[in-house]
Amino acid sequence: MSENQVMERLVQLIEHGTSPYHVTADVERQFREAGYTRLFMGRPWELERGGRYYVTVHDSSLMAFSIEGQVGRTAGFRIAAAHTDFPGLRLKQKPELLRNGYAQLNVEVYGGAILNTWLDRPLSAAGRVALRGKDVLHPVTRLVDLKSPLFVIPNLAIHLNREINKGVELNRQKELLPVAGLWGEEMKEGYFRKILAEELAVEGADILDYEIGLYNCDRPEYVGRGEAGPYLSAPRIDNLSGVQAIVSGMLEGGGEGICVGAFFDHEEIGSRTKQGAGSQLLSLVLEKIAAGLGAGRTEYLDALWESMLLSVDVGHAYHPNYPEKMDLTNQSPLNHGLCIKEACAQTYATDSRAVAVIQQICMEEGIPFTKYFNRSDGTSGGTLGAIASTMVPVPTVDAGIPLLAMHSARELMGTEDERALAGLLGAYYRL
Ligand code: ZN
Repeated sequence: MSENQVMERLVQLIEHGTSPYHVTADVERQFREAGYTRLFMGRPWELERGGRYYVTVHDSSLMAFSIEGQVGRTAGFRIAAAHTDFPGLRLKQKPELLRNGYAQLNVEVYGGAILNTWLDRPLSAAGRVALRGKDVLHPVTRLVDLKSPLFVIPNLAIHLNREINKGVELNRQKELLPVAGLWGEEMKEGYFRKILAEELAVEGADILDYEIGLYNCDRPEYVGRGEAGPYLSAPRIDNLSGVQAIVSGMLEGGGEGICVGAFFDHEEIGSRTKQGAGSQLLSLVLEKIAAGLGAGRTEYLDALWESMLLSVDVGHAYHPNYPEKMDLTNQSPLNHGLCIKEACAQTYATDSRAVAVIQQICMEEGIPFTKYFNRSDGTSGGTLGAIASTMVPVPTVDAGIPLLAMHSARELMGTEDERALAGLLGAYYRL
């Protein structure tokens, strides 16, 4: 894969991946186009050496795997994992508010968004809609992306709050309600359901429920001189940079063993959900892979001890305006390569033996990397690696690209870092 392709693929995923469902659908598309075969959780798997497969789970998580080379019956799993979700605003049911000539929507906050960054931006909506079906136990679900900018959350003018530049705490129920770009006849009770029904070409009464988020319509933009770089300013870089690096790494083809790409929803709200990394999902899939290859439970358990997990998520880049927020000796400026994240509290799951594997790959392949630590008097949040490795106890490393403005509606990354990360994933799966 050429260096340009790495960034082109990421930009495409950011543009297509406007909800965790759409991220999953785009990842699925990439595997399908590469010849991967779809499997289903509730059916038996008959797997072949040399085979490549994927399974989607609850529409917003996906596991892909390839069975490469001369796999022994107890060959280990080489796993990389990332998350499909990102912080933002989610629509409640019955969301319409009509107030003094304005149509608005009722929203709640998903994950740890920097709320102020959602003001004054063109927003659209995307997600999953559940429809009435013939079979009560199997409702029909459809994805929807309204695509065009339809909503905006306007700031308050400085003239009406002279203290605004001293910092504003936004009330989540009062001050984050977007105004919808509707006028006249369109502004009726139930207008949002009507928009959805038109978009999906169904009857409004058949829409039973949905999980729909507002997303920032801003397009990804390269920042800097030249065509592509040195920076990319875009929504959703956390964690689509990780998702795409894993997909690209897998599509390059594996070496000996079973290569697994695990994409989980719900990391931004703690992972402890049925399709999150805190569920049994990964271990269930690994066990089904072993069974599909004709291995028994004991062989599966033995194979776990030959396995490894690379948890791919963004880290905090060195911020030149806030050097006091950074560790004294371990810093990760943009465009210095991927970062390997360590914390003795195990909020990053990294252990030295697993780092040694990743570090040797980087050194042999000439891939730039830094090691990242938090300040000893600061905190940073954890990753899904720390949670997944309690469910599947294998050596684990937390790594990813460093990022500025993490959880802003628009984040900033270095293009060289994504190239380094994609290079690492390719080499990791080739081992
Ligand atoms: Zn993340």
